[in-house]
Amino acid sequence: AKQAGRNCSRYFLASMNQSLDERLTLESELRQALNTGRLELHFQPKLALADRRMLGMEALLRWPHPTRGWVPPDRFIPVAEECGLINALDAWVLEAACRQLRDWQAEGLQGLNVSVNVSALRFVQDDVAAHVQQQLQRNGLQASQLTLEVTERLMLDESGRPREQLQALDAMGVRLSVDDFGTGYSSLSYLKRLPVSEVKLDKSFVHDLDTDPDDRALASAVISIGQALDLSVVAEGVETEAQRETLLRLGCQIGQGWLFGRPMDPAAMSAWLWQQQGA
Ligand code: C2E
Ligand code: CA
Ligand code: CA
Ligand code: CA
Repeated sequence: AKQAGRNCSRYFLASMNQSLDERLTLESELRQALNTGRLELHFQPKLALADRRMLGMEALLRWPHPTRGWVPPDRFIPVAEECGLINALDAWVLEAACRQLRDWQAEGLQGLNVSVNVSALRFVQDDVAAHVQQQLQRNGLQASQLTLEVTERLMLDESGRPREQLQALDAMGVRLSVDDFGTGYSSLSYLKRLPVSEVKLDKSFVHDLDTDPDDRALASAVISIGQALDLSVVAEGVETEAQRETLLRLGCQIGQGWLFGRPMDPAAMSAWLWQQQGA
């Protein structure tokens, strides 16, 4: 028994070391990708569910890794948050998104609106509002063309700095969206106190909308809260026509998902946008 215990703990330590090792590798490779300009932004359209009119798009970070293929953001964002790289990463995303918007405008595409994900940590550690102001100015953009998506984690942070920044951004005219709405914590009172314009119904509620009565009840409740507070409600992960119809029936007007368009690289998104504006 003693022998087995030793083996077991040795095994345990080895696997911990391995995963720590992996994290460190991922971290240094990510840092390198950022510093050598090898990260990409892709864009996914956001549409009116009723008539598929395009309303905006979300910028999503992509990391094409030389040997691992595309590393999913769900894998590397948490690492970036732990090692302090998230501020630089999200700053790069904001700058790249604003530059892309400026380029599209220069090409003649009008009335574009982009949503950018910002980690809650960045609002604690960094001056997001000042950076946004600088990037809007530098690229000749209106504040109303930019939406920041943040998770509920940030809304529950009662410390002054994030709240002041949210208010400054709102005063500038930047829209704020609550991402993964309904998956986080229970208190919703922040919706009353903070300048939120939009909530995003997480795709986990949308996936089984037409087969799971519990999911439908939850989605319906979340949509009702948004409607009652006069917020835009955007459904994520809309993959089927049946989901589109159910969402409309529940009162949700806006959606994103593979049914309408996958996240696309800038060239593909540009072609998509021209097709939309031509139509
Ligand atoms: P999110 O903000 O909730 O983004 C929605 C995710 O759903 C994206 O995954 C998107 O590609 C995916 N998706 C879109 N349509 C569909 C669909 O019809 N079906 C399904 N199954 N999935 C769909 P992605 O791009 O892998 O991003 C994962 C998460 O990583 C994002 O979740 C966001 O939390 C984070 N993330 C992505 N880019 C950034 C960034 O620039 N900064 C920060 N801080 N986080 C980011
Ligand atoms: Ca998002
Ligand atoms: Ca989500
Ligand atoms: Ca998310």
